[in-house]
Parts: sequence; structure tokens; C-alpha cells
Amino acid sequence: MLVPQLNAFSLVTPLFMITMGFVISIMPFIKHIPDYLVRYGYSTALAGTALLMYSIIQPTEIPRISTIISGLLFFSVALFVQAVSLRLKVKISWLFMLLIIAIGMSITFYFSIIDEQYSYRLSMLAIVPIALFTHNLPALYEAQLKHRLDRLLRVSVVLLIFVVIFRIGYLMFVLEPSNEILANNMLFATLQLLILVLSIALAALLISCAIQDIYQELKRESRIDPLTGLLNRRAFQEKIQQRQQRSSPSQHAVIVCDIDHFKHINDNYGHKIGDIALKKVADILRKSLRKQDEISRIGGEEFLILLHDIDRDTALLVVERMRHHIEQSVMNIQNQKIKITISFGISFFQDYAQIHESIQHADLLLYQSKKYGRNQVQWQLSP
Ligand code: GH3
Ligand code: MG
Ligand code: MG
Repeated sequence: MLVPQLNAFSLVTPLFMITMGFVISIMPFIKHIPDYLVRYGYSTALAGTALLMYSIIQPTEIPRISTIISGLLFFSVALFVQAVSLRLKVKISWLFMLLIIAIGMSITFYFSIIDEQYSYRLSMLAIVPIALFTHNLPALYEAQLKHRLDRLLRVSVVLLIFVVIFRIGYLMFVLEPSNEILANNMLFATLQLLILVLSIALAALLISCAIQDIYQELKRESRIDPLTGLLNRRAFQEKIQQRQQRSSPSQHAVIVCDIDHFKHINDNYGHKIGDIALKKVADILRKSLRKQDEISRIGGEEFLILLHDIDRDTALLVVERMRHHIEQSVMNIQNQKIKITISFGISFFQDYAQIHESIQHADLLLYQSKKYGRNQVQWQLSP
């Protein structure tokens, strides 16, 4: 049953695909990777298994098992379609895909066992993938794609569909009537090569997308405080640098604020409840801001806020509203009613070159707020 001239060379591609697919498939047990990459892993492992069967089984035996091999390839394509759709956020219908696969396998069974027709069987290997790929073509076309990699992914999918359609047409209407031998046909070999190149390009694009996602996630994690979801000190510095390069002179304000007697909250209610209270305060502060403003958690229970392009009176109004909101809200955390107050220092500047002096000034004003009894706002008198 096995091919007598079986050699290592014919096993390279299938074993490479199976190993790669297997490694990607088990990756989620070790480290989180995007879902679409996992689907791609399953898809590659299945396609590799099908190719391995083609490589090791005698050509004369192939018709007997071609329904199984085709089934593996169809499922591999369906999983690939799912991977691309997950990445591009396009909906797919598994019910429809399973129906297509069932019909495809039945026809393959007919043309391999009942009426053996090689080219019809081969056509199924093109028609079924096209049906699987195109069933969500309108949605794929309408998808709003932000990243260049995603647009490249979509173009590659559409190109692959066109090449595969051309291949079927050529196979059924040109080659079959003239009964030419496939292996010696230059155009057919070129089409096969194009399909291979596009498939590799799609795989490389999906892997690149995953690398990009993981990189973005790591970058986000390095900039965001995990407890409150606010920018950390480093990310805030980056934002300031960006503003220094872009902004034209105008009036801006910086606020430094610190929760009052937070140590008591931890001591009385425990660190866990303290964490939740901290998060709630951060939420209130964030929701009081406009889009152009920035907020960062710069220390344990200390926040730094930038009010970009704002006049003094409005800035003072915003800060007073925050203070009042926090003072008024009785936090109900795990059946404990907790009252929190917060102290503020606010200073103003015109040019982003002065922001660091302005932050120091706001910090001094915060300490005045603490000194004069907490739960208040101290502000810079002269601009
Ligand atoms: P003050 O009004 O002078 O600011 O008093 P305070 O108690 O808030 O100030 P102090 O600096 O003495 O204590 C700050 C407390 O904040 C101590 C620390 O345990 C707590 N803290 C800092 N970071 C966190 C955190 O992430 N979670 C919790 N639960 N507590 C924190
Ligand atoms: Mg404090
Ligand atoms: Mg503090």
C-alpha cells in the first residue's frame, strides 16, 4: 500500500506542515496567542496530514481513500477561512461550510469509487475551497480594515480565489477535452505554483498579524497601569514629549492629586477593598476629562492630570467638580460603605517646555492642600 520509492524529500513539506501546525496548536497551553493563529495551526496540521497521505500511499490506492484525504483538506480550508475571518472580524457560517464539505465529500466519493474520474475529483479540491472562501465574500469586501497587513491579507485571499477559479476552468474546459497530461502542462504547473506562493504569503501574513498583535499587547501592557487602566508615568512622559513637538502656545493646566488618608482605608478594610476604591476614584477622575486631556497614575494613590488648551476658570471648575464628585460618592464595596476624599494642586502654563516646572508647582500646591486640612483644591494665583 505504501509508495515503494518513498524518500525523505517527499516527506519534507507534509512533515514541516504537521510539525508547524502541531506546535502552533499546542502554543495556547503555554502562552496566550491570538485565536486566529490557533485556527491556522489546526488548518496547517490537517493539510499536512492530507499531503502526507498523498506522499506515502501508492497512486493506485489513492481513489480508495481520496474521500478521507479530500475531507481533511476541506476541513483544513474551512479552518483557514475561519482564521482569516477571525482576524478581519468577518462573520462566517459553520453550518453552511459543513454542508459544502459534506456535498464535496459525497461527490469525491462518487468520482473515486463508483465512477473513477481523476479530473472531476481534482476539480472538487478547487470548487469546495472556493465555495468555502466565497460564502462570506460580500462581508469580506465590506469589512473596514485599519491595518495595512489586514488589507494585504484580504487582497491575497481574493487573488487566491481568482487563481483557483481560473485553474478549475482550465482543468475542466481546456485540459480535460484535449486529455493532455497534467504534469507536462506549463500553464497548469504555473497555476499550481501561484497557488502555493499565495498560500505561503497568506500564512506569512497571518503570522505577521499575530506578531503585530502580540507586540501591540506588550506595548500596551508596558504603558498601562493594570489596576486602574490609566497611563503609567512612563507613558505620560511620552505623551508630554509628543505634545512638546506638536502644540502651539495656549493655556494648559496640570493637576496633581492624592487620595486623603488612604492608609486608613487599607488598614480598616483591607488591601483588596483599597484596590477597588482606588480603581473607582480613577474612573471618576477619568470620566470628568475631555478627549484631549491626559491622566496618569504616577504613584500608589497619586494621579497626574493634564488639561490641554483650557482657560483658568474652566480648569478650576473641572477640578472642583472632581473633588465634589468623589466626596459625594459613598462607595459600596463588598457591603462596606466607604467615603473617600482627595486633595488637589493645580498650576498653569502656556508652553510645553515649562510643563515640568508646572508639575513641581502643582505638587507643592497639593502639599498645601494636605496641610490646610485635605479634601480641597489649591491653585496657582498668577499665571
Ligand atoms: P495623605 O492624606 O497624607 O495622603 O495620607 P495617606 O494615608 O493617603 O498617605 P500615605 O503616603 O501615608 O499612604 C499611602 C497609602 O496608599 C499607603 C499604601 O499602602 C497605599 N497604597 C499605595 N498604593 C496602593 C495600591 O495599589 N493599593 C492599595 N490598596 N493601597 C495602596
Ligand atoms: Mg494619600
Ligand atoms: Mg501619596
